[in-house]
Amino acid sequence: MAKPRIIDILDKAEIGQTLTAYGWVRSRRDSKAVTFLVLGDGSSLKTLQAVIDPGIEGHAELTHVGTGASVAVTGEIVASPGKGQALELKATRVEVLGLADQESYPLQKKGHSMEFLRSIAHLRARSNVFGAVFRIRAALAQATHRFFAAQGFHYVHTPIITASDCEGAGAMFEVKASTKDHFFGRPAMLTVSGQLNAEALAYGLGRVYTFGPTFRAENSNTNRHLAEFWMIEPEAAFFDIHDDMDLAESYLKALIDTVFAERGDDVELLGKFVDKDLVKTLETTRTATFVRISYTEAIEVLERSGRAFEFPVKWGADLQSEHERFLTEEHFKVPVMITGYPKEIKSFYMFANDDDKTVAAMDVLVPRIGEIIGGSQREHRLERLERRIVELGMRLEDYTWYLDLNRYGAVPHAGFGLGFERAVMFCTGMVNIRDVVPFPRAVGQAAF
Ligand code: ATP
Ligand code: MN
Repeated sequence: MAKPRIIDILDKAEIGQTLTAYGWVRSRRDSKAVTFLVLGDGSSLKTLQAVIDPGIEGHAELTHVGTGASVAVTGEIVASPGKGQALELKATRVEVLGLADQESYPLQKKGHSMEFLRSIAHLRARSNVFGAVFRIRAALAQATHRFFAAQGFHYVHTPIITASDCEGAGAMFEVKASTKDHFFGRPAMLTVSGQLNAEALAYGLGRVYTFGPTFRAENSNTNRHLAEFWMIEPEAAFFDIHDDMDLAESYLKALIDTVFAERGDDVELLGKFVDKDLVKTLETTRTATFVRISYTEAIEVLERSGRAFEFPVKWGADLQSEHERFLTEEHFKVPVMITGYPKEIKSFYMFANDDDKTVAAMDVLVPRIGEIIGGSQREHRLERLERRIVELGMRLEDYTWYLDLNRYGAVPHAGFGLGFERAVMFCTGMVNIRDVVPFPRAVGQAAF
């Protein structure tokens, strides 16, 4: 243990060992003779108690040390007589690294509202809940790379600045240079999706995925939309819509497996303080077989429900969040994958079904979130693709390179986009998407 983190000390240190622990004071308690400092360092939720006798080196410095201060405590690991911990650190020397003014430090009391914590986003990573959320976020990112690597997907990087509007997927942010007009020789935007580029790469590498930032000028203040979010977009040659659904289902399950395997204590904390049903929801999702139904069947279920929805249910209309949540939370009570959406409400590049009314799109809906994944089999039949572009009043010349892909060596292929923050919401129980990304960017909000 070169410079052990607190989790290393708790897991591996032996009684009698001498070491230095570095951390922030979570709480301070003074009894007649000794001072107890509970230290955390972000390595996990767990804390190490340091027991400090008067007269040890540095003791005089402790006067103003309280919650939030940073210290280095050297001492001997001993068995703890107290409840709640097996080990503690019997200090021989303490060094104060940084004081935290007890009058102004905002994180001393427990039980701050999420809104308040959002207003101090630069400090909230120090709280237990946000520590847990951001550790889970990190674990999910690593799990993503492991999962796709194990399935033979190559990690690719697609441009963040783009001159093609992939989906008409909503409003975009324009990119301009301060040094030069028309820097790119034509209008340029921040990407809303790496899909079209990923398709080009899948036609060479077979299976690829992106994991990068995505930007949408969503002018709506929902708790599920950010202006800057991260998306994972796998794209696989020789995949059809069923392969795509299989991939989505096993990916979501792999994410949950990782959360339980690596961040069990964080999930437990969030289950206590954020969402009482968190563990149950995750366990159900991990073990359930996802329901697969067509859009038409979904509309029938919604019509038969007798529910008074705010938005009308009608074949041809897009499903709203309330419809999605009804299907997955109340009706099926497990994740639901819906396929065969009307072509009018989906993008031009989706594979046309034989009925000529629907496309091979698939959305994955999960409890509490609604849509977490949107994907499709792509139209690889060149003539149909061209016809659809023209039908929609788009210009073929804007899609020259994209059409080339299927001019040469076209194959069935499919992919999807998973909104990473929605996955983090799902795995943490957090209800506002602004609370699963460290520094959220949303309409009216770009502080920190
Ligand atoms: P929604 O209907 O929820 O607005 P969408 O259908 O516009 O989403 P897609 O274009 O299918 O979204 O994008 C793929 C995934 O990216 C979505 O399933 C969702 O998880 C995520 N996503 C989309 N827009 C946002 C956003 N503004 N903020 C965070 N995640 C998003
Ligand atoms: Mn979608």
